[in-house]
Amino acid sequence: MSIVDLHTHSTASDGLLDPRALVERAAARGVTLLALTDHDTTDGLDAARAAASGAGIAFVPGTELSALWGGLTVHVLGLDIGPESLVLRAHIEGLGLLRAERAEAIGRGLAKAGIPDATAHAARLAGGGMLTRTHFARVIVETGRAATVKAVFDRYLRHGLPGHVAASWPSLAETVAVIRASGGVAVLAHPLRYGLTGTKLRALAEDFRQAGGTGIEVVYSRNTAEQTRTAAALARRAGLAASTGSDFHGAGLGYCALGGQGVLPEDLRPVWECFAAC
Ligand code: AMP
Ligand code: MN
Ligand code: MN
Ligand code: MN
Repeated sequence: MSIVDLHTHSTASDGLLDPRALVERAAARGVTLLALTDHDTTDGLDAARAAASGAGIAFVPGTELSALWGGLTVHVLGLDIGPESLVLRAHIEGLGLLRAERAEAIGRGLAKAGIPDATAHAARLAGGGMLTRTHFARVIVETGRAATVKAVFDRYLRHGLPGHVAASWPSLAETVAVIRASGGVAVLAHPLRYGLTGTKLRALAEDFRQAGGTGIEVVYSRNTAEQTRTAAALARRAGLAASTGSDFHGAGLGYCALGGQGVLPEDLRPVWECFAAC
């Protein structure tokens, strides 16, 4: 039996396990094909690849890139990418700068709301990994101002709240082009998490396909059967392949277990058939 998980995070961004521990946990769960897809970085890939080879797991180098579609932040998984690609390296360097600037601005917003030094604390928590809003959320939980990371997002980090900063990520089209230039395939991550109407969602999927996108993340973490049906219909309509991922960040964080998100609807083309072939 094959168990596929093409969306996971490590300490290279906002996951709790280092790449080796993540791979070993995936192996213990019976995952046979695994991608590491940290936010806007490829830093964990070498360590994960080495661990996967030791654990007998097929490894897919990946990343989850932040992008803008209109004014909306969307996430694009780059799978089977070439981490050495100069185009990808330059893109990721730019994202790192944008993240550093955004982190400073988030820190200023939180300081005004009575939470000092959040950026320095978040950076320390990230430990050299890509700094994300998850790290800010964990810092605020540590201060006792909120019980969970989710509560921090609802109280401080969402649109209209003191820690919200609009980020000027590269466009969706540019992001897809960079992934393709590195030899990878682009997958639109968790399409149902953007709060879009059906009409807008179909427009996003169509724009994504026209930009050169290959797949949609149809089976996602703890989605309901109905959400999976909706995402599958979106992939069918846009003529896109299908991906499957847990979005695992660590145990007890609300995501499903590694490889535990379920299997793809049978009529859809698995995106991994496109690796190195499309
Ligand atoms: P960033 O890419 O730095 O804006 O951070 C996005 C990350 O924050 C996502 O990948 C999730 O891990 C996390 N996140 C976003 N919204 C929530 C939420 N409502 N609850 C918990 N984690 C969230
Ligand atoms: Mn995350
Ligand atoms: Mn995401
Ligand atoms: Mn993710």
